[in-house]
Parts: sequence; C-alpha cells; structure tokens
Amino acid sequence: MNLAPGATRRTRGRSELDVIVVGAGAAGGALALALARDGFEVAVVEAREPAPWRAGDEVDLRVVALAPDARALLDDIGAWPAIAAARIGPYRQMHVWDALAPGSLHFDAAEQGEAALGWIVENKLVQHALWQALATEARVRVICPAEVDAIDDGEGAVTAVIADGTRLHARVLVSAEGADSSVRTKLGIAFEGRDYGQRAVVAHVTTERPHDGTALQRFRPGGPLAFLPLADGRCSIVWSLPDADATRILALDDAAFRAELGCAFDFRLGAITATTKRAAFPLRLRLAKRFVHGRCVLAGDAAHVVHPLAGQGMNLAFRDVRALREILRAARDRGSDIGAAHVLRRYERERRSESTVAAYGLDAIGRAFASDSAPLAQLRGIALSIAGHLGPLKRMLVDAAGGTRRGGVAP
Ligand SMILES: Cc1cc2nc3c(=O)[nH]c(=O)nc-3n(C[C@H](O)[C@H](O)[C@H](O)COP(=O)(O)OP(=O)(O)OC[C@H]3O[C@@H](n4cnc5c(N)ncnc54)[C@H](O)[C@@H]3O)c2cc1C
Repeated sequence: MNLAPGATRRTRGRSELDVIVVGAGAAGGALALALARDGFEVAVVEAREPAPWRAGDEVDLRVVALAPDARALLDDIGAWPAIAAARIGPYRQMHVWDALAPGSLHFDAAEQGEAALGWIVENKLVQHALWQALATEARVRVICPAEVDAIDDGEGAVTAVIADGTRLHARVLVSAEGADSSVRTKLGIAFEGRDYGQRAVVAHVTTERPHDGTALQRFRPGGPLAFLPLADGRCSIVWSLPDADATRILALDDAAFRAELGCAFDFRLGAITATTKRAAFPLRLRLAKRFVHGRCVLAGDAAHVVHPLAGQGMNLAFRDVRALREILRAARDRGSDIGAAHVLRRYERERRSESTVAAYGLDAIGRAFASDSAPLAQLRGIALSIAGHLGPLKRMLVDAAGGTRRGGVAP
C-alpha cells in the first residue's frame, strides 16, 4: 500500500497524522498496528519491502525466543493467531550450564504454572504477520520503499520529508529502524557501548537425541552456545564466538562443522547429524544516550542493542512498544498533546532505565562467563547452584525474562 505523493493534507498548525513510524520490522510494525488499533492515524516509512514468509520455505535462519509478554502484545494487536497457526516452537524448559564449573540453572514452565516459557519464532514470520495485519488497517498508510531525508521538529508538529519530496506532518515521529537508525544520526543522538569483537553463528541442526521442547545454553570461554528447539524437531543454534573463531567456523565444511559443534556442546543432544547453511551476525552493545529528542522517539534496536545471550532484544523492543502505546493513549485520553515534552519524557524515563539494566546486566554476565580463570569459574558454579535452589529467585529470573506482566499462557 503506497501513499501517493500529496495524499497527506497539511493543515497549518495541525497535523493530519498522529504518529510517523520509520522502519517496520518487529518494533515499528507492532507499534504502528497497536497505535492504529487505538484510533491513532499512523504513517509507516519503510526502506525495504520484506520478503514474504511462505510455509513451504526453509525455516529462516534468524529466529527469536519470544517471551510471554511479547506474545501477549502480539495477541492484543491481532498478529499472534497468524504466527501461531504458521510455525512456532514452544519451549517448556530451559537449561543453562557452565562448561568450566559444576552447577546449572533449570527452568520448567510447569513449576511456574505455565504451559510454555516462550516460543521460538522466525523474525521473518513476525514481520510478515505484522505487515499482513497492517495492510488491513485503514488508519495506517505504509510508504515503501522510502526513507526519511530530513526532519523538521517544529513547535506543534514534526515534519518528515521523504526522498520523493512528500512531506508528512505528525505529532510524534518514532524511529524503529534498527541498530543503524538514520533518524538517530540525523538528530545527533549519540550512543554508548562497544563492539564485542564477536559474531553469532547461526544454523539449524539435526541432533541425534530429541530436544524435548527444552532451550539449552552452554556458557563456554569465548561465548555462549544456545540450542533453541524448533517445531520440526531440529534445533536453531546461536553460537557466540570471537571474530577470528567465527570466521574459521564459517569456513569449515559441513562434516567438520557438525563435529566441532557437537564437541562444543559437549554432545548434550548426541551427535549433530545434519546442518543447514550458516550465517553470522556481528554482536554489539548500543545504548542511545537519549530515547527522546523533541517530538522524536527511539524504539527497539534503534534505542538499544543487547547481547543475544538471554534472547532479550526483540522482547525489549516489544516492551518499548507497550510502554509508548500506553503513554500516548493516556495522553490523548486526557486531552494532552501526545508529542508534549512531559509525555515523551515519561517514555524515556521508563524505557531507558530498563534498557540500561538489561544491556549492562547482559554485558556483565557475558564477561563473567567468558573468563576461563579458575576462581571465577568456581564462583560462577556456586552462583548457578544457589540460584537453581532458590525458588523465589528463580521465579524472579523467569519473570524478568518474560516481562513483568505475564498473561495466561497456552502452548
Ligand atoms: C543472533 C541473534 C539472535 C537473537 N535472538 C534473539 C532472541 O532470541 N530473542 C529476542 O528477543 N531477540 C533476539 N535478537 C535480537 C532481535 O533480533 C532484535 O532485537 C530485533 O529484531 C530488533 O527489532 P527492530 O524492529 O527494533 O529492528 P530491525 O529488526 O532491525 O528492523 C528495522 C526495520 O527498519 C527498516 N529500516 C532500516 N533503516 C531504515 C531507514 N533508513 N528508513 C526506513 N526504514 C529503515 C529495516 O528495513 C527494518 O524493516 C537476536 C539478535 C541476534 C543478532
């Protein structure tokens, strides 16, 4: 659905649109849909039309572990049924252990009174379901392929100039363009963080023994190795490795890769009997210094990029969506300007603090587990054992991973 140039009318001092969302991946797609469902007029500016998800295609190499609160949001905006009907892998258990020390952490959905701890879903499927839903939403105009050339953050409205000259006027503009947000750069918002000097090697593999719906993660010096259970019985692996090791692993032939992967995973699920092609993603920590600038807001990876060791990036993005949606809706309902500084500051306060804790918390865990120093390994073993034996602490960890508002969860 393209917006014909000129289709957006400008009224002096007023904006026809409530919100412009730049970037329609998981964060931008969900936000646009949520706001439209709440009665806001939304324009979406997306650089690339996503490739359609098709049931007959091989499972996409990019998968995410979605937490219960992410599912609840997708359900609420009407995108979950299509995702669930397509292809998802619920996981009921999670087991985490250290390659260099005894002690482990085990989570079981049954202990929490839930049917699942989360779901393994293809990124492409999440985006596809959101786009399908957006196409039926009269309050959303999708402008694609398109990018924002310039932003004029005025007193009563923000104006985005699209490359073809179209000018969009709204109360709020949200960048959900991912880690390399162009809007963030245009606004001069700096970010803190570092490149990990690591890449995550991903592939789907067949294992000798079944995964039994359990997500497994082994912390190894150099980075964690996760096996995530896919619906078709295979596992999706996320293997964080120093750059040089990742380059070497990517260059191995399939047989050598399977042998090395099995060994790195301590043959927890037996031998690796088959593998797909591999891909790799650079790992970095990024935290924007500000999430709000005038009437412009950052959400999802545009605001924060975290290490994937706890599978939190997209879950955090959906928490941004939920918070922004609630804050904008509340402002509108009490008759306030949704782009007023005091309204958007609330979003920034709420989301920047949680994102900071997540980004640096995961960074600290990653550092602690990457060390092969014997005393540190011993300490890690003790910490894992203690956490594993304390019910309330475990519950807290599950709640933190799943979001604080855990709705009723079905497989
Ligand atoms: C190996 C790996 C494993 C991961 N595992 C998990 C996991 O298990 N659980 C989890 O929660 N997270 C996980 N993540 C993180 C998760 O993938 C990201 O946090 C999430 O995809 C971010 O979504 P987003 O919508 O913010 O950004 P993106 O997915 O990057 O979407 C950005 C969108 O903006 C568009 N865009 C970009 N530039 C422009 C522009 N200039 N103009 C217009 N549009 C633009 C893009 O085309 C895209 O559609 C993982 C990440 C990696 C690397």
